Amino acid sequence: MNEKILEIENLTVSFDGFKALNNLNFSMDAGELRVVIGPNGAGKTTFLDVITGKVKPTEGRVLFKGRNLRSYAEHAIAQMGIGRKFQTPRVYLNLTPRENLELSCNRNKRVFPTLFRKTPSAERRTVSGLLETIGLTHKADMKAGLLSHGEKQWLEIGMLVAQSPDLLLVDEPVAGLTDEETFRTGELLLSLAESHSIIVIEHDMEFVHQIARKVTVLHEGTVLCEGTMDEVQHDPRVIEVYLGREVDAEHPVTPLEDALLEPTGTLEVN
Ligand code: ADP
Ligand code: MG
Repeated sequence: MNEKILEIENLTVSFDGFKALNNLNFSMDAGELRVVIGPNGAGKTTFLDVITGKVKPTEGRVLFKGRNLRSYAEHAIAQMGIGRKFQTPRVYLNLTPRENLELSCNRNKRVFPTLFRKTPSAERRTVSGLLETIGLTHKADMKAGLLSHGEKQWLEIGMLVAQSPDLLLVDEPVAGLTDEETFRTGELLLSLAESHSIIVIEHDMEFVHQIARKVTVLHEGTVLCEGTMDEVQHDPRVIEVYLGREVDAEHPVTPLEDALLEPTGTLEVN
């Protein structure tokens, strides 16, 4: 399966002249799990905003399954099969996980004008199957408000999956989670990656190590480099971006920089 699910060509997004994205090129095969990393302000969130239609390109274009998204509103793009998981969980706290999932499944059944044919991979999922996937079968009937932060995140991921998106966008899924929850989130995303195309934005480098196949590094609104975690970590440009500047009290080492140093322990900056 080598068709492109996403192609982004010469994408620039300007906010009052400031280029949050600057001539960015990116493409991804159907079925891929891609991790996007980059320093704060690199343009990661804007990148997702453009894919979902929240922000429109100033220049360039975004093709989803070969179709230019330019003229489609956010809800139409979601309906075409792009689901986004925001950083803070958006679940109904007074409903149970089961009820939350039932709502999402029903939403999916509403008859929209058939803008685009769904791919066969976007098969319908059952609520009990979803509960099992997200590991919440034993908590299916308690109020979602009583779930831990991690469990709420998994529930929201389940609610997204209930809508059978072809492409899942996940923004910093493990921020604020315990180590155990972080690891289980990785397992969940890896299992979802068997049947979805997924883009994950993340700062937690241990987590990135757990799930990463191909990594894209953004810097100043453009793609700095791409490759395996190992390749990216040893790329001199990445080392320069993360480590090549003076570190002082006002600009402490971020967890990302810290982790870039840590896993190998052998990064040498000459
Ligand atoms: P990241 O998610 O990688 O931290 P963002 O995409 O949030 O980066 O932001 C990239 C740059 O664009 C930042 O410098 C940010 O201040 C700027 N930016 C983002 N959104 C807006 C906006 N709506 N108006 C003006 N500047 C913005
Ligand atoms: Mg961001």
